[in-house]
Amino acid sequence: MSERIQVAVVGAAGRMGKTVCAAVIDDPMLDLTAAIDRVSLGEPVPGVDLVVERDLQGAFDSRAVDVVVDFSLGEAVLANATLATANGAHVVIGATGTSAADRQALEQLALDRQRNILLAPNFAVGAILMMKMAQMGAAYCDRAEIIELHHDKKLDAPSGTAILTAQLMAEQLVQGDLGDKETVSGARGGDVGGIPIHSVRLPGFVAHQEVILGFLGQTLTIRHDSVDRTSFMPGVILAVKKISEYPGFTYGLDKFLDL
Ligand code: NAD
Repeated sequence: MSERIQVAVVGAAGRMGKTVCAAVIDDPMLDLTAAIDRVSLGEPVPGVDLVVERDLQGAFDSRAVDVVVDFSLGEAVLANATLATANGAHVVIGATGTSAADRQALEQLALDRQRNILLAPNFAVGAILMMKMAQMGAAYCDRAEIIELHHDKKLDAPSGTAILTAQLMAEQLVQGDLGDKETVSGARGGDVGGIPIHSVRLPGFVAHQEVILGFLGQTLTIRHDSVDRTSFMPGVILAVKKISEYPGFTYGLDKFLDL
């Protein structure tokens, strides 16, 4: 990889993609070489001599791309990562909504292509600390539940952050069924590893999560709020700079932070 890192952003016309393009342009070590989306084609990317393009392969054919950053949608990431790694790029995935089978396929892809792939459901450092604290607390509490709150344009539920948090907590906490009965379907939330997740979708929210730990006579609430999409950018930029050092498939940015 050359000293400056050449970056292509997929989902570049979206809310996150636009913010990522701006953050890449602002960083002195990174060059934005392609902005890929399926909409807004031909629209100029502010601050750089580029327009939004449809064809990721076309970008590889015409210029250098070291890292592809994917903030499109969960169902697109496997195809994008397949194309990116076939062209020799590492991949940083922020899009959520991937299945367990997608994650397995990404792991195999990284192995087969000898390229590095990071899938991080949350790039906000505060959220990563929240997940770590929840994982620690899970070893001590009796029960736990997660409430995640997002803007009303979010397509997948529960959030990738909530799923990863529950998976991390379930390694420490086995909680049985309470034997309670739902009189309204879904009232007790979704279940990941035995941990209920409740998803709220409202205008006004960006990305928020509360993990409530229950103990005898006490509760502990761990809450993280992303109030602006810039909260994710230091993590995205760090991932782009470090991806070449982490072989294979990595799930969660915490592994890049040595937490
Ligand atoms: P958005 O709908 O505003 O943007 C998604 C963009 O991807 C759109 O412009 C869409 O046209 C484009 N797109 C979809 N499929 C595509 C494909 N196959 N090829 C090219 N472009 C494609 O959504 P958003 O709010 O920007 O969020 C994008 C993703 O990032 C979501 O999955 C969201 O959950 C996730 N997200 C992750 C983090 C994180 O920290 N990891 C933070 C916020 C959002």
